[in-house]
Amino acid sequence: KLFNEIQELKGNIRVYCRIRPFLPGEDQKSTTIEYVGEDGDLIIANPSRKGNEGSKSFKFNRVLGPTASQDEVFKDIQPLIRSVLDGYNVCIFAYGQTGSGKTYTMTGPENATEKEWGVNYRALNDLFHISHNRGDTIMYEISVQMIEIYNEQIRDLLGSNGILNVSQPNGLAVPDATLHPVNSTSDVIQLMRMGLVNRAVGSTALNERSSRSHSVVTIHIRGVDLKTGASLRGALHLVDLAGSERVDRSAVTGDRLKEAQHINKSLSALGDVIFSLSQKNAHVPYRNSKLTQVLQSSLGGHAKTLMFVQINPDVSSYSETLSTLKFAERVS
Ligand code: ADP
Ligand code: MG
Repeated sequence: KLFNEIQELKGNIRVYCRIRPFLPGEDQKSTTIEYVGEDGDLIIANPSRKGNEGSKSFKFNRVLGPTASQDEVFKDIQPLIRSVLDGYNVCIFAYGQTGSGKTYTMTGPENATEKEWGVNYRALNDLFHISHNRGDTIMYEISVQMIEIYNEQIRDLLGSNGILNVSQPNGLAVPDATLHPVNSTSDVIQLMRMGLVNRAVGSTALNERSSRSHSVVTIHIRGVDLKTGASLRGALHLVDLAGSERVDRSAVTGDRLKEAQHINKSLSALGDVIFSLSQKNAHVPYRNSKLTQVLQSSLGGHAKTLMFVQINPDVSSYSETLSTLKFAERVS
């Protein structure tokens, strides 16, 4: 079954909305969330602007409310993640304004307990587990890359290769990013820590760079059927996107303006790619950003895409929430 020809799975794009809970100290009464339905329905409204701001409704493949646990979120996407062991390429994104829970979903909070682990730890843990279980019939090799894209430059977070280039269309998207074979969850935890430390090294104290860069953790899978010798490859890309908040152009200059323009350009390039895939357009504009170039072989074709659209429930985030939901609406 495993080495069967891969089914035609065009337009395989799912969009999940995740609403983070209020944090300690935030005023719970000032929520924009009016209704969360079982079937992916979401209604938001701005209670502080009664009358002139009506309710707006949106539809997703799923809406994960503020009480959804990391475990529940993972269970939901587990089949998608496991499909990389069957040779699929999968991309999972977290999109949203800074503070909406992107990193929480993908990685977990700082110093996370196992219960708080985000998608990347859980995914690797699960892939190890399954690959060990299949060990009598298939030998799997699992390796990890971690890069950051900042101002349209790619940096290796697990090596010292400096600024990297993209190569397409086959094989590794970023061939010079160091590839680390991993055998256990503790290997992975160590690597992720190293990546996070390297990510922080590039940032200045006042300028929290992690919210202005995209980070991409890629898990490469190679499987060899021990009987037939047939082999397969799959890849799972876990992408924590730069914050989608719009900056006030009149208020920023210099480096901050450049950053904002790069973020804006790459997020809209991503939106354009996913949109044209969802429309089954013949031409997909991958070349407009480093992000979409890096992910090209895992977006479209047989690849599967899942976007977590992250929402901050606070009313002060209402206009960013609306623009996040509009982005999501276009790609779903
Ligand atoms: P982002 O990466 O989008 O900037 P974070 O993931 O850093 O946002 O989340 C902002 C804050 O909210 C962090 O303190 C984080 O731990 C907390 N948080 C986010 N989502 C959740 C959640 N589902 N449950 C509990 N705390 C959360
Ligand atoms: Mg973050």
